[in-house]
Amino acid sequence: MNTAVVLFTRDLRVHDHPALAAACANASHVVPLYVLDPSLADISPTRSRFLHQSLADLRAALRDRGADLVVRTGDPVAETIKMALSVNAEGIGLSADVSHYARRREERLTDECERHRIALKLFPGLTIVDPGAVTPGGGGSSYRVFSPYHRAWLASKWRDEVATPGRITLPPDIPAGPLPAIPGGESPDAVNGGETEGRRRLSAWQRHIDGYADAHNDMAADETSRFSPYLRWGCLSPLEVAKVCEGHEAFIRQLCWRDFYYQVALAFPHLSTRAYRSSGDLTWRDDASALSHWQDGLTGVPIVDAGMRQLQAEGWMHNRARLITAAFLTKHLGIDWRHGVQWFFRRLLDGDVPNNSGNWQWVAGTGNDTRPYRRFNPIRQAQRFDPDGVYVRRYVPELKAVEGGAVHMPWKLPQKLDYPGPLESHRDEAVWLRP
Ligand code: FAD
Repeated sequence: MNTAVVLFTRDLRVHDHPALAAACANASHVVPLYVLDPSLADISPTRSRFLHQSLADLRAALRDRGADLVVRTGDPVAETIKMALSVNAEGIGLSADVSHYARRREERLTDECERHRIALKLFPGLTIVDPGAVTPGGGGSSYRVFSPYHRAWLASKWRDEVATPGRITLPPDIPAGPLPAIPGGESPDAVNGGETEGRRRLSAWQRHIDGYADAHNDMAADETSRFSPYLRWGCLSPLEVAKVCEGHEAFIRQLCWRDFYYQVALAFPHLSTRAYRSSGDLTWRDDASALSHWQDGLTGVPIVDAGMRQLQAEGWMHNRARLITAAFLTKHLGIDWRHGVQWFFRRLLDGDVPNNSGNWQWVAGTGNDTRPYRRFNPIRQAQRFDPDGVYVRRYVPELKAVEGGAVHMPWKLPQKLDYPGPLESHRDEAVWLRP
């Protein structure tokens, strides 16, 4: 093949990138293309910042290899076809994705490629095991329950990692196009994006991973990998992460949860808006005031507020805090999980449809939890996973003076603090002592 276009989407790396590796192996000229889609621009300022940093880093990596990241703005399908026609490309390569938006984009690109007689090839790379590759025996296109999926996933054959291209040759006379200035974002303490930063973290993680099985629920210790934004944007290959971390079962199991929700989302494209298990969808309460207290981290329940403020500050939240805050919204305040999906989706650096909506539905009891009526008592959770209150004091400065685990009990906090009392429905101490 003379010329191929590789359309980057949320696979912003050069290592273990099957579509890029195949194009470089099969074509003498390759156009690495990214199309800024204005329809996605305002969804999350914090994620936009991470995206633009990652694009700048990808551009640098491609320039090191003799090419560039060619950037265009507009409808990704129209711009990709326009580029392919302008360089006489015989083929276009793209990492397959599962969200409703991504699949619609793939379908439209397929139609346009057929019309113009350009070969379109979809590649793996966003997950470890392709969504849909592991299916339950006895019918069904996807697993609804995690444990059997986990067993099948572990037993399945994983693809081999692909080589990183050494040199990439652009066709002549292609203007690379400017990358817009990096936006500010809404979270002052958000981490920086990019494959370089992701790989630095992957190598540093080797010093911590031994402690993961014991410490990953310790909210104050903060001993999780924080890879999620880098996996979300494909700055890290999930397969490479799994191979580097081989043998650390507790950690690999979490990576499997990620794959699990991708195959759920593939089979159930409306995961963000419709209950997966419709019988679990309750009549939710309409309470705009409680919702905004929750969003702002002002519920008066310290562990909930700490989680929500970590989200505001960092664009990321500890998994245990996500469980507690999500359960508080849905099971204590009785507010519809879709409000939580939307708020997290705007704020999270790692916010994506399969993991965000899949986890929200799990917590709300409308999703893949085998015990949908499970209740999380936030105070008991706090006492168990932040026994000394270190996590709470880190994110709720009004409570800095309250010592030890006493910080978790709203009904015991001194009245004179500049910190709200619990919401109306949660004033009674007895509410907290229920299982
Ligand atoms: P680690 O504990 O170091 O785990 C390694 C990797 O495994 C993570 O980076 C992630 O890719 C994967 N992983 C871990 N836990 C889960 C899980 N429960 N489900 C799926 N994958 C998991 N994760 C997202 O990537 N995007 C989201 O939008 C998202 N929204 C969530 C919403 C709610 C309500 C809840 C309860 C969880 C959500 N999660 C989401 C899952 C999980 O909280 C994060 O993946 C994890 O906290 C990321 O931190 P880490 O990278 O340090 O994880």
